[in-house]
Amino acid sequence: ASHELKTPLTSIKAYMQLLERADLKQVERNLVTKANSNINKLNNLIGDLLDVTKLQSGQLRLNIAPFELKKMIMESVENVQHMYNSHELKIVGEIPDLTIEGDILRLEQAMNNLLLNAIKYSPGTASVYINVKLLQHEVRIAVTDKGIGISKENQERIFGRFYRAKELSPVISGLGMGLFISQEIINRHHGKLGVESEPGKGSTFYILLPLSSSGHKS
Ligand code: ADP
Repeated sequence: ASHELKTPLTSIKAYMQLLERADLKQVERNLVTKANSNINKLNNLIGDLLDVTKLQSGQLRLNIAPFELKKMIMESVENVQHMYNSHELKIVGEIPDLTIEGDILRLEQAMNNLLLNAIKYSPGTASVYINVKLLQHEVRIAVTDKGIGISKENQERIFGRFYRAKELSPVISGLGMGLFISQEIINRHHGKLGVESEPGKGSTFYILLPLSSSGHKS
């Protein structure tokens, strides 16, 4: 199914790239930009759906290898900042120089998800904060927004598959897969994905990753 879903989209993308090179009027160029942005959304949704399927059937494989934590975080921050300029992504303090073991691409996916959510659920605010702290046995990567926040009741539910806090589902688009996938990825690294939040004040989502490399499942 993965191939069947992805192939037509890849070919649409290629056609759009050809179209971009054509001599287009501004109006047409705007339409191409809009089409591209929707193609990307669809691409991400398909990716998420396939990940959920893989997770459910125990087929999500991790490629565990040593990597530089700082590099992973900076790449994620830069990518998301490049996509959205509504908020400034601010690194608080220093990111410790640290090599850890894990699947860099999957961890970056989880980090991207937290950053995108922080932006998405804090309309009308200016900044999102990234704070990385070295603890005794683990590293804590926190993403803080000053947005709508989450009630105590919902804080327990939002990690569930397809769960979305009801108040805002109609206003802010999403399918409720991101946190489920992110939590599974972090769990598979023997880490923890947690949240601290107050409605109306904002949220901090944090990833705890163990420093020791022992006991990884791949
Ligand atoms: P989606 O954003 O597609 O709904 P997620 O799984 O990423 O899916 O998030 C699940 C739900 O958790 C969201 O629908 C929202 O209600 C809540 N949520 C996630 N991140 C935040 C945040 N930073 N601030 C407020 N609510 C959030």
